[in-house]
Amino acid sequence: MSYDYDLFVIGAGSGGVRAARFSAGFGARVAVAESRYLGGTCVNVGCVPKKLLVYGSHFAEDFHAASAYGWEASKPCFDWATLVSNKNKEIERLNGIYRNLLGNSGVTVLDGHARILDPHTVEVGGQRYRTERILIATGGWPAIPDLPGKEHAISSNEAFFLERLPERVIVVGGGYIAVEFAGIFHGLGAQTTQLYRGDLFLRGFDQGVRTHLAEELTKKGLDLRFNADIARIEKHGGTLQAHLKSGQMLEADCILYATGRRPMLDNLGLENTGVTLTEHGYIQVDEYYQTQEPSILALGDVTGTVQLTPVALAEGMAVARRLYRPEQYRPVDYSNIPTAVFSQPTIGTVGLTEAQAREEGYAVRIFESRFRPMKYTLTDIAERTYMKLIVDAQTDRVLGCHMVGPDAGEIVQGLAVALKAGATKAIFDETLGVHPTAAEEFVTMRTAVGE
Ligand code: FAD
Ligand code: NDP
Repeated sequence: MSYDYDLFVIGAGSGGVRAARFSAGFGARVAVAESRYLGGTCVNVGCVPKKLLVYGSHFAEDFHAASAYGWEASKPCFDWATLVSNKNKEIERLNGIYRNLLGNSGVTVLDGHARILDPHTVEVGGQRYRTERILIATGGWPAIPDLPGKEHAISSNEAFFLERLPERVIVVGGGYIAVEFAGIFHGLGAQTTQLYRGDLFLRGFDQGVRTHLAEELTKKGLDLRFNADIARIEKHGGTLQAHLKSGQMLEADCILYATGRRPMLDNLGLENTGVTLTEHGYIQVDEYYQTQEPSILALGDVTGTVQLTPVALAEGMAVARRLYRPEQYRPVDYSNIPTAVFSQPTIGTVGLTEAQAREEGYAVRIFESRFRPMKYTLTDIAERTYMKLIVDAQTDRVLGCHMVGPDAGEIVQGLAVALKAGATKAIFDETLGVHPTAAEEFVTMRTAVGE
């Protein structure tokens, strides 16, 4: 049987591009089909534009802090259209870089929606391609729960392209996206309310981090409401009314739902294959990203893995190596995945939370620190930083590092290396600090606050 390609990748996002480029580099004949935008969610409506908006938003506080350092300027004013237009230009530049990267690696890029016709045939734009293997890397899509008036709500996809900065925003959800966007809108001056259905947002994060962030955001004037959810949305003229389950009503100009993401399987043709789904509707794969259909693999968000770009990248690399460079294959290590929530202040975290460590049966020693970031000591900004270490009392190994504060993501990336290397608390203690930094606090916490 002759094939047009050895590997046909569906979706040029984080995982698909990585798998396609490296497979081609290892000598495979590879095509990648992309229906929307090269680089996928992360580059176009995810990590990259989000971080640019966070930078844009944080300037408000920076301008405020500057006056305490002697800087006087005319009253700063913000133009949303400029930020969005500059962000869009940067993303177009990145789209071009992705096209070049793929082309230079010898990958054929097919612009259009891909549909699987049988386990070895994919159709794009009316053209059929025969392939030895198919890799599904189609990612996810925002999921808004069914409620009357949901058509008046937007998701993160639209939030990146709003024509105007809304004056009043309601953000629904308590995960990464809700927390990040509530911070963006609040920083830019919108009157922002965040509604979360449970007792405290960021379920799954360390309790200390969750309570600390909630306190900091409340101090900054973000209207955080827990145990709150919308029953229906009504539109009256240009105003949206959110009728809460409690009977309360809130008015807003924009309601953003960030209530999780579903796997993107629309019109993919899975019914023409033996691919099966998990109980939550994700593509079922084994530890080699192999589906139930022998010629079809899947990776990244569409498989319900940890939904982070570095995870999709690692999975893409693992697939390319296992198929075309098996001697270099190493399974992805899903332990100690560092992550940041780009709230303001930022969360950075790696390893186990205190609750997870206890559930796993560890006897733990807990170290905590709270302090005012030095940069704010001259200002009236009341923000405080929080740091926490979870240590295995038996082996002295550091099991988890958690932080809420400026640059937490940058700091935790370094700590992730230490945790991966199995560093003990004694090694943290022997490490000299970089002075004066916030990060040095991680190597100077001496007294356990709890066991
Ligand atoms: P994707 O990147 O989603 O790529 C899938 C691609 O497949 C898309 O381009 C899509 O158009 C294409 N596609 C789908 N169906 C078809 C089809 N039938 N034919 C052709 N093409 C198709 N992660 C982080 O690590 N850090 C962050 O700061 C971060 N911020 C985020 C912020 C937001 C608002 C969102 C939504 C996500 C964020 N993420 C972040 C998560 C990260 O973006 C995803 O985990 C990552 O993009 C998953 O990669 P993927 O390859 O699985 O899928
Ligand atoms: P998450 O799964 O992180 O959070 C979803 C939130 O919505 C939870 O608080 C959940 O509550 C709530 N929720 C779910 N269903 C409903 C409902 N029907 N009504 C009301 N609330 C509901 O999803 P996100 O959309 O925030 O982000 C998707 C993923 O993308 C993240 O998990 C993360 O992996 C990735 N991402 C990473 C980022 C980063 O690295 N900085 C940034 C953005 C996204 P409950 O907890 O009670 O279930």
